[in-house]
Amino acid sequence: MWKTKKYDLIAIGTGSAMMVVQAYLEMKPRARIAVIDKDPPGGICLTKGCVPTKLLVYPAEVLRTVEAARALGVRCDNLRLDFKAIMQRVQASVESEISRIRAALEAAPNIDYYPTAAAFSGPYRLRVGEREIKSGLILLGTGSCPSTPAIENLAAVPYYTSDTILSLQAPPRRLTIVGGGYIAAEYGHFFAAAGTEVTIVGRNPRFLPEEEPEVSALAKTHMGRRMTILTGHSVVSVSREAGGVIRATIRRSDTGSTRTCCSEALLVATGRASNSAILDAAKAGIQTDAEGWIRTDAYLQTNQPGIWALGDATGRHLFKHVANYEAQIVYYNALRNQHIAADYQVVPHAVFTYPEVAAVGLKETEAVEAYGEDNIRIGFERYANTTKGEAMGVEDCFVKIVMASEGSRILGAHIIGPQASTLIQAVVNLMAFPTESAAALAQAMYTHPALSEVVGRAAMNTMPLTQYRRLWGDGAL
Ligand SMILES: Cc1cc2nc3c(=O)[nH]c(=O)nc-3n(C[C@H](O)[C@H](O)[C@H](O)COP(=O)(O)OP(=O)(O)OC[C@H]3O[C@@H](n4cnc5c(N)ncnc54)[C@H](O)[C@@H]3O)c2cc1C
Repeated sequence: MWKTKKYDLIAIGTGSAMMVVQAYLEMKPRARIAVIDKDPPGGICLTKGCVPTKLLVYPAEVLRTVEAARALGVRCDNLRLDFKAIMQRVQASVESEISRIRAALEAAPNIDYYPTAAAFSGPYRLRVGEREIKSGLILLGTGSCPSTPAIENLAAVPYYTSDTILSLQAPPRRLTIVGGGYIAAEYGHFFAAAGTEVTIVGRNPRFLPEEEPEVSALAKTHMGRRMTILTGHSVVSVSREAGGVIRATIRRSDTGSTRTCCSEALLVATGRASNSAILDAAKAGIQTDAEGWIRTDAYLQTNQPGIWALGDATGRHLFKHVANYEAQIVYYNALRNQHIAADYQVVPHAVFTYPEVAAVGLKETEAVEAYGEDNIRIGFERYANTTKGEAMGVEDCFVKIVMASEGSRILGAHIIGPQASTLIQAVVNLMAFPTESAAALAQAMYTHPALSEVVGRAAMNTMPLTQYRRLWGDGAL
């Protein structure tokens, strides 16, 4: 065993933690830094997450858009996705980024890059391969990994996760996806557009259960036209049949009845789990919660002074934009001696399906819990009631804004429809200034006839929550 090597900074994970590393190097160009990652450098967003999935789902969106445009007079025959070309583009993009980052890490004179797993050997000390390293300043940007559900016989059949599915060379004839969240939905969208017969099996009674019930239901209706979506069902066991076919036994949660589903491929997309078992955080005295997510205070410091955690590692909001935001908080608090609490009031997210889904802030039930039913108003508008929405032939998609009656402060917004991920930003920007009310959205001038008008109209077209529920229930909205 070599002598313990001391660093000014140790960063584990080459995702958002690298933002802090770069800032540290700018502040202290002579600092000695260790950067560790057991996987190809760049982090999950770049190598297996946001970037590759968006390179997949965009062609799928174009295909669905052109298909839908047939009703508008667009003629385009033999429309199909070239699976091989799309996968090659994804691989080329991911590999070139990984190579660029790896080369930069290897060439950086102040950085020792360890492409291996790190595990704590004691407080402020880590084992990386054969070496022990130490520092009083450690960043835990260790991300998350696919969680594996308890399915009988799962280990005995070949299955994919979001970590491995990008290696597929051809679209399977049939694909069973276990999980009904956003990763399942985005992959279902892509594979269905590539010609695969997709069955999504979600345990929750709702598809995309993190969304508003109206949004979940509409997403299920639209996407259910192109794939089978079973909600309130669990895959209880799997087996491998002749010819490599995988048979999944699926149980309906309410009745207990079972059915089977056969497919050539199985994708397990049942959420994310902590990576901290590999890290052996307990050896460093670092507290984790019951599921292994690293605990921090509001300033993102763990219970061990000088050891900071950011991004998925904390298990709070597993999105890249949150990881980047937290990297900034860690930068200010750990390197600039500031005392800034992370603020999660306005965390947007989007699901890049067809139709797209996006949301920010409180859902209706959360707003009721916080403010009381009588103090909530809902702003609502359908895309079809705007000129652009009509021109696009958008069916039943909408914008719902949840606001406090007093002062019309926006508490949350929920959009399902084309460009939802872009449209939500107007609300996000407004919510970033809590003193602003929905009036800023309602009174602003909108380019006519842009799709953004639907957000302005939703802010204008408000009603008490009870009225919204009644009109929605009557189908009058
Ligand atoms: C399929 C998929 C699609 C997604 N799409 C989106 C999206 O559209 N928008 C969005 O905002 N988010 C998306 N995400 C989530 C996003 O990828 C993550 O929130 C983000 O990458 C987290 O960044 P991070 O810096 O916390 O960690 P990561 O980028 O995950 O980096 C952590 C790195 O640390 C390494 N590591 C962990 N433990 C150790 C150890 N002990 N020793 C050495 N190395 C270690 C890991 O191997 C990993 O490489 C998606 C995720 C997936 C899986």
